[in-house]
Amino acid sequence: MNNNDMILANKKSERLYNDINYDNKKCLSKEIAKFVDVMINNFSDKDLTNLYNNINSLDIIIDGGYENHQNSYDPVNNIIYLEKDNAKSAVYHELFHLSSSCYKDDTVFCGFAQWNDDLIIGIGLTEGYTQLLRERYFGDDDLKHAYSAEVNYAYLTELIVGKDKMSCLYLNANLKELTNELCQYNSVEDVINFINAIDYINAYKFKVSDSNKKEIFQNIIDSHRIARKFLLSTYTKKFAEGIKIKALENDQDAITQMTISFYDFVGEIIDNNAAVNMETNEEIIILSTDVLNEIVSSAFGSPDMIFFK
Ligand SMILES: [Zn+2]
Repeated sequence: MNNNDMILANKKSERLYNDINYDNKKCLSKEIAKFVDVMINNFSDKDLTNLYNNINSLDIIIDGGYENHQNSYDPVNNIIYLEKDNAKSAVYHELFHLSSSCYKDDTVFCGFAQWNDDLIIGIGLTEGYTQLLRERYFGDDDLKHAYSAEVNYAYLTELIVGKDKMSCLYLNANLKELTNELCQYNSVEDVINFINAIDYINAYKFKVSDSNKKEIFQNIIDSHRIARKFLLSTYTKKFAEGIKIKALENDQDAITQMTISFYDFVGEIIDNNAAVNMETNEEIIILSTDVLNEIVSSAFGSPDMIFFK
């Protein structure tokens, strides 16, 4: 069994909107009502099944005193844990987790993450996209800086997949289909390595101590290299293929629009192309000019192409 076989398909259950009962969550009923309102106005009903399934039986525990439960969502028991001090702001991020989670066959499906006894995958991309949606629909919050790398990777992935499809796959907790989507331009292994790289960054960025600093920093840089290389290569292949089709159709407007979007994407890759070495405070370039040229020229299938100078 390879890794892709381990990623399970999340079969949708049919349940649509009924009256939402806010009684058991009085302390945050205003925020929850606002959240539901924004979701109904921005997403189609077929993508809100998990929200409708979970919202009425949700429990909210504030200052529960469990160290590992500070501002988190437990999809197995459908509980949101919040710290009292920032509960009103933190609840939105957790409500996105609630809206994209279900638990069946001993497996948690949560956005682009899945976990059970044999596998845990996709936490980093899920946290990034959760925070991206939180900021898009409810503004910034304290997590803005904590998840900035994951948000950036989720955003770049969304530029490849498309906004509507990406939010649909997230809300339906469909990692399998996201993987299939990215496999159009990559091997399964490449896709799994990309998802794992963001998982590593997410898991280890705050776990650096003096004794492991060097090793973790090197692994984090390598993870950034894998993720950025994957994203640039995937977008470029998709662009090269799209341009060919539009050229055959002689659709100049589409070619112009796609070219502008391609340059925007490349700009995003260049903008965040450095990390600071925790030991020396030196800036490290994640992808060198040579590597950037290698990625783009091989995606275009023209080995001598110089795109970056
Ligand atoms: Zn989260």
